[in-house]
Amino acid sequence: MAAFPTVQDLAAAKTDQVMALWKGLGYYSRARNLQKAAQIIVNENGGELPKNATEWAALPGIGPYTAAAISSICYGEPVAVVDGNVQRVMSRLFDIEHAVDRKEGKKSVQEACDLLLDATDPGSSNQAWMELGALVCAPRSPLCGECPLSDGCLAYERNTVLQRPVKQPKKAALPVEVGFSIALRKEQNGPLQWWVERRPDSGIWSQLEAFPCRMTPQRLGEEADINIGLFGNQSPERQMFGPVKHILTHRRMTAWFSIEPHFSPPKTGGRWVDVESGEANWPRLIDKVLPELRAWIVKN
Ligand code: SF4
Repeated sequence: MAAFPTVQDLAAAKTDQVMALWKGLGYYSRARNLQKAAQIIVNENGGELPKNATEWAALPGIGPYTAAAISSICYGEPVAVVDGNVQRVMSRLFDIEHAVDRKEGKKSVQEACDLLLDATDPGSSNQAWMELGALVCAPRSPLCGECPLSDGCLAYERNTVLQRPVKQPKKAALPVEVGFSIALRKEQNGPLQWWVERRPDSGIWSQLEAFPCRMTPQRLGEEADINIGLFGNQSPERQMFGPVKHILTHRRMTAWFSIEPHFSPPKTGGRWVDVESGEANWPRLIDKVLPELRAWIVKN
């Protein structure tokens, strides 16, 4: 808000600046979508914000939850907000047996929410359901004895509270091995520099900057093959920095860094950055080990 106080400021900002401010928060697609949405609002809607949930949901990055929250709270539109808290409350009140993250269960929760929304004050009604879920109908220790709805709660009556909501089993995070190759140069009397690439517009770490890298899904249960060579220069003596462990929502990463002596950089898509003092839009995985990595580079 300090950097971009208006939607026009955000729309006109450089994407790199938006990404730099978002750094460390993860979910970088949110930052990209936020800016894309601002650009649509400015360029196609004359700077006017949408006024209802359908229009909000048409913007990038705005799903049904956010669209309903904005339009019910800001404009009084009678649309139900379904977040994790509300999902839990409804699945217990109606003792919903279907998984709430599958089609049938989602439909049952939505119907329950629509039924129980107070259309005369949808903003307060939505916030009340969310609060009930957050403060009373808690996941593991619900305060059923103090709950104003215990008389009509089917899960309470049937003693199935802790079995609700039903969810489909989560997929295990995929182990991934990442090999970063560091190319260095030192011009006469100049500082030591490393080559940093801008990541593609989509996929992991998109639009951030990193060393050239290669990723391989790690074979489950096996030790990482640390001898990754981006430029075909594998050797057992290769000095490696790592492992750096990093967890993303769907990936468990093990990263290794190696110095790549036979590298001539492409003409576009990257830049030379001072090792000791240069700034780049690093992903969190690199940012968190930057001081140690710099020290290792200087030593080697
Ligand atoms: S009675 Fe218990 S399970 Fe039912 S809504 Fe209240 S807190 Fe949740």
